[in-house]
Amino acid sequence: MTAIYDCIIVGAGPAGLGAGLYTARDRQKTLLLDKFYPGGQINTTDRIENYPGYENISGPDLIATMVKQVKTFGAEIKTSAEVRKLHRRDDGLIEVSTAKDTFAARVVILSPGSSYRALGVPGEDRFRQAGTGVSYCGTCDAPFFRDKVVVAVGGGNTAIEDTLHLAKYAKKVYMVHRRQEFRATPVLVEELMAYVKKPGSNLELKLDAVVTDIQGGTKVERAILKNVKTDTIEEIACNGVFIFVGMVPNTAFLNGFADLTQQGFIRCDTAYLRTRVPGVFAAGDCRIGAAMQLITAVADGVNAAMWSKHYLRDAGWWNQPLSDALSPGEW
Ligand SMILES: Cc1cc2nc3c(=O)[nH]c(=O)nc-3n(C[C@H](O)[C@H](O)[C@H](O)COP(=O)(O)OP(=O)(O)OC[C@H]3O[C@@H](n4cnc5c(N)ncnc54)[C@H](O)[C@@H]3O)c2cc1C
Repeated sequence: MTAIYDCIIVGAGPAGLGAGLYTARDRQKTLLLDKFYPGGQINTTDRIENYPGYENISGPDLIATMVKQVKTFGAEIKTSAEVRKLHRRDDGLIEVSTAKDTFAARVVILSPGSSYRALGVPGEDRFRQAGTGVSYCGTCDAPFFRDKVVVAVGGGNTAIEDTLHLAKYAKKVYMVHRRQEFRATPVLVEELMAYVKKPGSNLELKLDAVVTDIQGGTKVERAILKNVKTDTIEEIACNGVFIFVGMVPNTAFLNGFADLTQQGFIRCDTAYLRTRVPGVFAAGDCRIGAAMQLITAVADGVNAAMWSKHYLRDAGWWNQPLSDALSPGEW
């Protein structure tokens, strides 16, 4: 017989754990399913400095506390439980299937996160896993490279924003981009160029170039660049390599169920986080407009949990637009 829950949460990263804390504490029968184990991306960092309340905490330590807290209120967490399929039944319950089991719930919160796109060059994995100089998030890690030399790779909006952020901390930043032109919006490109042209700027562009190798001993010591037009090789001594070549949402299993953007992000309304399927919310790095941060992921989970109560009270609300009636003070 299919086990029925009030709320099933797909993905027990920060967004899923934030949601689970609120639904379980609201006395809803809550199940979190994770492909691997709880924590998601933040498990892979040992230094977080931008989660309020903690001046510095490791990902695994923060997650261990979150998991304990969620379980204290009765949420069930199943690990090694990759969700493969979802289906909304005629009676409104949503079925959620892994390879082994099928569960059903009145509300589902989708929080499978995203993965950073890798460059796929030698050294990238080794230094990333050891946390010794390869990073994918300037907002997260720039302060750890104060007065150091770093290489930043990419040419889109995030690449420019995060490179400019890095330049506030690093002694020198080399920005490597495979073309002459940037894909980013013109206003960001103008900002970048103005910064590069400032007298004594600490930001230097390496255009028509790619990183082919990241080398060092226990830490990153140099990046090898190749000019794609001339094949010239250049070695840059550096302490870190930041890779800003995009995110891949973990949403392939939602094809045909949720409405996805071309890149695979879940489309939802960004006030209430409702997807196109009644009773199914999206939260965290998997959704359009995500800020890709720990705190925004947790906050998304909480928002989805709060609005799920409104749906449970009034299913007809699902197709109604953003409403003044739900503004603070009105509700
Ligand atoms: C190395 C690193 C350092 C970072 N440092 C910081 C920082 O200092 N500050 C900051 O604000 N942010 C940081 N971030 C970003 C932050 O970790 C993410 O924004 C945040 O984890 C997003 O949370 P999420 O729950 O949306 O997704 P995720 O953390 O990606 O969690 C998604 C979860 O869903 C599971 N899942 C995926 N698919 C399925 C499926 N089909 N079925 C079941 N489960 C599934 C995954 O196993 C995972 O546990 C960092 C990220 C990385 C990689």
